[in-house]
Amino acid sequence: MMYCPFCKGPAHTRTSRYLSETVKQLYYQCTNVMCSATFRTMESVDSVIQRPSNTDLAGDEFIAAHSGKARKQSL
Ligand SMILES: [Zn+2]
Repeated sequence: MMYCPFCKGPAHTRTSRYLSETVKQLYYQCTNVMCSATFRTMESVDSVIQRPSNTDLAGDEFIAAHSGKARKQSL
């Protein structure tokens, strides 16, 4: 969710697409019926707080199964 730059009401994502692995373009529509503005934004990875852990558990069946689920949710 993002606030409309015109009426400051809540705007919802209508669609989005990845321009690269770290940059996403999103189209928003304002939910205020008196405004209904539509606008586009950019979302990008700005900073990495902590890199992925360097583990040798990739061959572990349980860990591998759960890391796959986590990746699906983040996209
Ligand atoms: Zn608006």
